Amino acid sequence: MSDNAALCDRTMPDLGVSLQSIDQYPADGQPGFAAPVAFAAVLPGSVAAQAGIERDDGLASVDGKPISKRPGLESSPLRDSAFAAIADHDPAKPLELGVVHAGVAREVIVPAKPECRAVVEILDVDGDTAQSDGRTIQIAYGLAARATDDQIAVIFAHELAHSILHHRERLEAANAANGLLGQFGRNRRLNLQAEEDADRLSVYLLANAGIDPRAAPDFWRSKFGQHISGGVFHNLAHPSAKARAAALEAEIATHIRPGQANYPAELLATRTQPMK
Ligand SMILES: [Zn+2]
Repeated sequence: MSDNAALCDRTMPDLGVSLQSIDQYPADGQPGFAAPVAFAAVLPGSVAAQAGIERDDGLASVDGKPISKRPGLESSPLRDSAFAAIADHDPAKPLELGVVHAGVAREVIVPAKPECRAVVEILDVDGDTAQSDGRTIQIAYGLAARATDDQIAVIFAHELAHSILHHRERLEAANAANGLLGQFGRNRRLNLQAEEDADRLSVYLLANAGIDPRAAPDFWRSKFGQHISGGVFHNLAHPSAKARAAALEAEIATHIRPGQANYPAELLATRTQPMK
């Protein structure tokens, strides 16, 4: 979603790839990788694809530095350290990647453009989970498999909005509990605020990415959206599916002008404000 990079205060180079690492697999079931970190997907037409990088190629280094576990990420898969190395690169300058293809290593210069700093991960679990910790957006395989492209875009836009608005860290700073305790009193109010703001921003993200923002209220009105809303997506700290759809329709009717970039300045300004 580099169309929305202007909305994010944290960007990274948009390569159009997703990564995986060998340590994400059990020791007795590891696939044959060209290097401990490999390209799990390369989007057709992306800068990586244009530079000749292929799916299953290995990624050995970023800007001349071999990929190794970074401080603070020792207990995470090596993939996260590789992602962090790419994310730390100035998105205005070309990247130099050490790529291993069929046993042969080469340096590949990849032009970069900024995108919002977020990585999408399809979790290998069934169920209806979608969540964001501010760095990684995780969508359960079961959810991804059942959803249409538009529905995935709606879920992704909602989670990206949480990330853009720094909700996780702002809720933590405000000592807002999640889970069961998050469903009551002040916690509930803060969590609801985060949900409503993420919903509002999501329609701008969709519109700016060239997707009809009405996909969002349509999603919440659909059987699928209502099912999700009755499942993991819903607890008392989330608005009802009907309320979400109505609020989204109002936001679209009032603020979204098709064919032009839409930036909700006032909403974006909240990301540096404490939640209270
Ligand atoms: Zn949410």
